Amino acid sequence: MAILVTGGAGFIGSHAVKHFIERGEEVVVVDNLSTGHRAAVHQQATFYEADVADSARIETILRNHSVTAVVHFAAFSLVGESVVLPYRYYRNNTCGTLGLLEAMDAAGVKQIVFSSTAATYGIPDEMPIRETTPQRPINPYGHSKLFVERILRDKVLSDAEFGFVALRYFNVAGAAADGSLGEDHDPETHLIPIALQPAIEKRHCVTIFGSDYETDDGTCIRDYIHVEDLCDAHRLALGAIRPGDARFYNLGIGRGFSVKEVIDAATRVTGQNVPIELGERRPGDPPVLVAAADAAREELGWQPQMTDLDEIIGSAWRWYQQHPDGYADAATRSADNG
Ligand code: UDP
Repeated sequence: MAILVTGGAGFIGSHAVKHFIERGEEVVVVDNLSTGHRAAVHQQATFYEADVADSARIETILRNHSVTAVVHFAAFSLVGESVVLPYRYYRNNTCGTLGLLEAMDAAGVKQIVFSSTAATYGIPDEMPIRETTPQRPINPYGHSKLFVERILRDKVLSDAEFGFVALRYFNVAGAAADGSLGEDHDPETHLIPIALQPAIEKRHCVTIFGSDYETDDGTCIRDYIHVEDLCDAHRLALGAIRPGDARFYNLGIGRGFSVKEVIDAATRVTGQNVPIELGERRPGDPPVLVAAADAAREELGWQPQMTDLDEIIGSAWRWYQQHPDGYADAATRSADNG
């Protein structure tokens, strides 16, 4: 009996693998290492360098490890990139997931937790966003994930044994409390790591993508959630899957912070000035995304621990101070230690 984690070498996936292993689960990881890091995969996980689209290979892995449930992180997740390269997103996120689902079908695996996104809501009619808020994505990334939600709903209608939970993430940040894992993207595009980079001399200044939005300070507002709280929600979601049941939960803290507020927090946390420049809006960006996350709290019993923005950024900051070169740095260090 094992859990298959796809994308287990990525930022969120690697934290989830650690979370499950520390709670006694047997974990098998599949990752094609297109964006992930082998060094981020927990040593007690069984690792396969494989693509989720490779149904035959995934089916064999599922059977060989008697996998009972899949937690599916593997995906591309950059809004801006998806606008420029839509096929890349539909191929990997939508078609790739279909390959995984077909492999699960062939191997008789009936449970999946799917990483969906707040980007499926687009520019919503109501704020905060509830799970019932109409989903109208405004970028290919959001569409690529919404298609998978549709596919999963249809599967439940056709197979009474199949069940899933789709978790719609808001903005995930931070790093493992023990300093073993953190965020390492190349190139880095996410706001919190970027706002920390001037303090470790990896960047001169932060460009604010749009300062003329209809928000109090003119910059976009997002709901930031700590990666370890997100992982805890996955554990609870796995336990909540029931045959014939389709569930959807927003995962956010329920408070929004503007780009400027995040930069101010990075200044406080690092104790260093973060130089800024005002730039153009980034195509595909909704002005405001804030979760109503009471359903996850009430129905899954989820209780996020890190709800303070400075704490979330502080957790990321500790990782960057210890690993300024990310996993390249971690790999060198572990090699040095023999
Ligand atoms: N952002 C920014 N400058 C950057 C990176 C991001 O102004 O260098 C903004 C971005 O336009 C968005 C917010 O910060 O409004 C969060 O972006 P991020 O890429 O971190 O996450 P997303 O909301 O796209 O998932």
